[in-house]
Amino acid sequence: MKRYSAFAVAREALRFHSGWERAWRSPEPKKRYDVIIVGAGGHGLATAYYLGKNFGITNVAVLEKGWLGGGNTGRNTTIIRSNYLQDPSAAIYEKARSLYETMSQDLNYNVMFSPRGVIMLAQTHHEVRGYQRTAYANNLQGVETQFIGPDKVKELCPIISLDGPRYPVLGGLWQPRGGTARHDAVAWGYARACSDMGMDIIQQCEVTGIRKDGGKVVGVDTTKGAMDCGQLGLVVAGHSGVLADMAGFRLPVESLALQALVSEPIKPCMDVVIMANTVHGYMSQSDKGEMVIGGGTDGCNNYTQRGSFHHIEETVRALIETFPMISRLKMLRQWGGIVDMTGDRSPILSKTPVEGVFVNCGWGTGGFKAIPGSGWAMAELMAKGHSPLTEEFSMFRFREGKFIDESVAAGVAH
Ligand SMILES: Cc1cc2nc3c(=O)[nH]c(=O)nc-3n(C[C@H](O)[C@H](O)[C@H](O)COP(=O)(O)OP(=O)(O)OC[C@H]3O[C@@H](n4cnc5c(N)ncnc54)[C@H](O)[C@@H]3O)c2cc1C
Repeated sequence: MKRYSAFAVAREALRFHSGWERAWRSPEPKKRYDVIIVGAGGHGLATAYYLGKNFGITNVAVLEKGWLGGGNTGRNTTIIRSNYLQDPSAAIYEKARSLYETMSQDLNYNVMFSPRGVIMLAQTHHEVRGYQRTAYANNLQGVETQFIGPDKVKELCPIISLDGPRYPVLGGLWQPRGGTARHDAVAWGYARACSDMGMDIIQQCEVTGIRKDGGKVVGVDTTKGAMDCGQLGLVVAGHSGVLADMAGFRLPVESLALQALVSEPIKPCMDVVIMANTVHGYMSQSDKGEMVIGGGTDGCNNYTQRGSFHHIEETVRALIETFPMISRLKMLRQWGGIVDMTGDRSPILSKTPVEGVFVNCGWGTGGFKAIPGSGWAMAELMAKGHSPLTEEFSMFRFREGKFIDESVAAGVAH
């Protein structure tokens, strides 16, 4: 793989960009792989990457039924933060956030990580208490957050209205090193690095069946033929239940449409990310100038990748209360993704009842921020059979009642 550099950009500019090579190969599937990962979203690709980088396992295929990054990874609002309440969550999200800090250098691919800071607004006294508690917990966990008053919120985000008609802003949980990154670039950067290690990323290849022998996985059936494998990672977000069904077990996840929208581009007016959880809406400004707005999940399970119209109305109404100036903006595009929600709003990174099959799902509305940490931990789980970062996230915790309740940190979509 040719390295990207300022020199390479200058060289290609002089020869009409004729020398760039494809970022990743499009190989024909082999008959057998040591590891097959289903799902070329961020989590699947990061898992493959760390299997190669940290454990030298490179006879790996990542199978994708559509196009790489075309699931939730390419549909989210890109908020990155690690201000979760429970210790296991803070550990994995902070691992991810810290990996984002050096991701562009590690992958030699500009993922445009922008640690511009995230504020979660407190708009009720209940939220004030909740976020003050989270700030104390985060400080014990080594996660840098702070509860700030309304004046500081206004200083950080001058376009905000502190005296909303329904809920005034009483303060906020501020994470200065939270922020955003370019979502497609995260998928593309991992894909390029995986391909460079000799891994096969196979797009337009849907897994249609999982073959077992004596309770152990031996391979998958796909729209591009059968492939054998020693281990199988199911990393398919909203379709986790479908794949689990193929493997012969059930997962405690629900699939729901979650949507987002962007406005026309405007001049820079907001250089932090704001989440307003009580009125329910969140917003940041992209480098192109569009206001990137996230809404809520549909009230019923579905696989539509669109979402219902009334959620857009509710979200925009909520954000106009908080940022009255956006009432004059035109909205450009709206889209949806299928998110995988667990009952305790925490993910599942786990062995399964089928030997050799591992599952990584349940990131729900907030898994973009977790991609590098999740890939790191999942790779360790698959390579060594255990990982300190995944111990509490077993799928069996629901049977045992060992929930990791993150309904405050993750109950809102982001
Ligand atoms: C509108 C929206 C806003 C969001 N905002 C944020 C945010 O601001 N911050 C944040 O942290 N998170 C956010 N999220 C959540 C985040 O996007 C997801 O948690 C994360 O992207 C999940 O990544 P993934 O790799 O697990 O899944 P995906 O990116 O969905 O990848 C799974 C892949 O599996 C493939 N697949 C499915 N079935 C099969 C099969 N049978 N065979 C082969 N391939 C298959 C799919 O095509 C898909 O490409 C948001 C999500 C949405 C929808």
